[in-house]
Amino acid sequence: MIDFKRIIQGSNLYNFHSHTQFCDGRAAMEDFVKKAIEMGFTDYGFSPHSPIPFDSPCNMSKEAVCDYIAEYQRLKDLYGDKINLYLSMEIDYLGPQWGASNVYFDTLPLDYRISSVHFIPSFTDNDLYIDIDGRYVTFKQKMEKYFHNDIQSVVESFYAQSIKMIEAGGFDIIAHFDKIGHNAGHFKDGIENESWYERLFKQAFEAIMDNHLIIEINTKAYVEHNRFFPNVKYFDLMKQSGALLLINSDAHYPDLINSGRNEAIRLLV
Ligand SMILES: [Zn+2]
Ligand SMILES: [Zn+2]
Repeated sequence: MIDFKRIIQGSNLYNFHSHTQFCDGRAAMEDFVKKAIEMGFTDYGFSPHSPIPFDSPCNMSKEAVCDYIAEYQRLKDLYGDKINLYLSMEIDYLGPQWGASNVYFDTLPLDYRISSVHFIPSFTDNDLYIDIDGRYVTFKQKMEKYFHNDIQSVVESFYAQSIKMIEAGGFDIIAHFDKIGHNAGHFKDGIENESWYERLFKQAFEAIMDNHLIIEINTKAYVEHNRFFPNVKYFDLMKQSGALLLINSDAHYPDLINSGRNEAIRLLV
């Protein structure tokens, strides 16, 4: 197991959540490594969206996994004396049938595992999984098509899936665990401050603490949307909890590997 605590204490220049050509990232793995070295990063982890049991434009296919591991090994051999590189995946949780605790992931030589919820079952067809993580304009269309425009039930479904994911385990870091708040907040202004929403957030947070997970502070949306995941209003709660907090940029572009990090650090100290 990687000593994340040592890395956090030793350097602010790390990133354990990133995407590349193997999923929906916009550049080759090598471009991210070169940028990380140029910026003085000490540690950099790759976390492509994992294979899932249906086609998705954002997730890597099972067939591509061998190539991903080979490319990681090539880069580690080439740049390993300049930066610590790590092999990982951001594993989607879909339900008892698919997630980080699935035996498939035990067959892969992953250094650590991130887990997240991007899909919830459609209200019109339970076998259909809908990506609720994308841009708001798409989310709004899906709300009508798959979820009867019932935002509270969508949020409840997201947190119910998150808690099942936490209890199923098989991973080290929980990614952006209140991400639904962003699209839900666009759909209904102020929803994140409603008492039922705050209750769901705190239930998920307690489950995270009970299972001793590392909490990601995700800075991907800071520049464009001026927000972090989890919501900044919970930073004090997280600081006081004693949980290990890992600041990740979830970068899809080499230029953004450090985006929002300094702002997050400032708010966390
Ligand atoms: Zn994600
Ligand atoms: Zn990601």
